[in-house]
Amino acid sequence: MPGGTALFIVGSDARDVEASLVAGELACLPCGGQLRPWGYARERTARLAEGTERHRSRRGRCRSCRKTTVLLPERFLARRVDSAEVVGEALLARGKGASQSVIASLVGRPRETVRNWLQAFSARAEALGRHFTSWALALDPTLDGVVARATAFADALEALGLAAQAASLALVPKPAWSWASQMTRGGLISTASYNTNWPAPPG
Ligand SMILES: [Zn+2]
Repeated sequence: MPGGTALFIVGSDARDVEASLVAGELACLPCGGQLRPWGYARERTARLAEGTERHRSRRGRCRSCRKTTVLLPERFLARRVDSAEVVGEALLARGKGASQSVIASLVGRPRETVRNWLQAFSARAEALGRHFTSWALALDPTLDGVVARATAFADALEALGLAAQAASLALVPKPAWSWASQMTRGGLISTASYNTNWPAPPG
């Protein structure tokens, strides 16, 4: 990421995150070194489905390479003000064929914003579909594959749903959009060229 700051998606419970950070359990993504507490990212206003929230992400700094890492809670996406759930609702509505203006009023956001989300997801839909399918297959051995839908956009959503469901059963129960953020390192609708390094499914 710009400024040499890495991003790490963490769980929603700030006390758990703090405890893991203080205990030295979080690893630096670039080098695997131990992250130590290192202040907070700038405060910002995040928009959730139920209203706004003032939020400051915790930050860690690597003992080895000294890079700082922002610990972004999984209900958010990288460099987006709107929560993963809000963006997800828009993506699902699009998957069912809703128009941009219908989606904009559904999620209470400007049409320009919604268009931006949909274009970003669409641009990476095939890669996202493959990525979520690999997660789903790794976590649910009974799965045969993902049934192809009419579009790459719909395929990616279908695979995302299967991957989130499999992860909630095999790992820990979480909302689907929190899994979507975890599985893309916050980059579900990122268009930045650096953000193609999505985490592989476990083991
Ligand atoms: Zn490091």
